[in-house]
Amino acid sequence: MTTSTAAPPRVLVVEDEESLLFTLAHSLKREGYTVVTASRGDDGLRLAREQKPDLILLDVMLPGIDGIQVCRMLRRDSDVPIIMLTALGGESDRVAGLDTGADDYIAKPFGMRELMARVRALLRRSGARAQPEAEPPVVISGDLQVDRDRREVVRGGEVLRMKPKEFELLLFFLQHPGRVFSREQILNEVWGHDFDGGHRTVDVHIRWLRQKVEDDPSNPVRIRTIRGSGYLFEG
Ligand code: CA
Repeated sequence: MTTSTAAPPRVLVVEDEESLLFTLAHSLKREGYTVVTASRGDDGLRLAREQKPDLILLDVMLPGIDGIQVCRMLRRDSDVPIIMLTALGGESDRVAGLDTGADDYIAKPFGMRELMARVRALLRRSGARAQPEAEPPVVISGDLQVDRDRREVVRGGEVLRMKPKEFELLLFFLQHPGRVFSREQILNEVWGHDFDGGHRTVDVHIRWLRQKVEDDPSNPVRIRTIRGSGYLFEG
């Protein structure tokens, strides 16, 4: 394994939904990756061969050649890590995707944070070129310890049981202390840009989180409500 190259990993995104493609490219660049995009299956296949990406995000339903076919064709001569982006509830898509040799799949709508965690994990496993600057695996704030890799939260020596989105939400807050976020921004970051569950979803999860991380959940001092704006994590 060579470590001499300092170039960031290159990620190819093949997705025909324009707004999702834009969001994906933007999020990946923000994480420090080099991004190549295609909105058709045949273009994606060609770019995969020309650009030799370190990882591919591949939508299933694509014009030209569909994602399953692209994956199958790539697997004839490449073991590049592939994450399939499948439609909500597309169980057969998932099975077909993994059958054709995809390494992972994620169902739409998905939160960018979860996707980025999968990308990091897969790149780490595949021993790709230098990772973008790694965030520390354990984030500490007061009596809270959050282990990103083990997805575990410990408070005062006790492991807290958390739903996946509660965990994502807490981690998001911990990484952005002292900043006010609107419900819209929180939905976008944690649930995904096309999630249609509404703002109430955020409020419910915040209530659950407060029950776990606040001494007095009805008088929160960690996760504060900023009237008319959203929420702020005091850190
Ligand atoms: Ca599509």
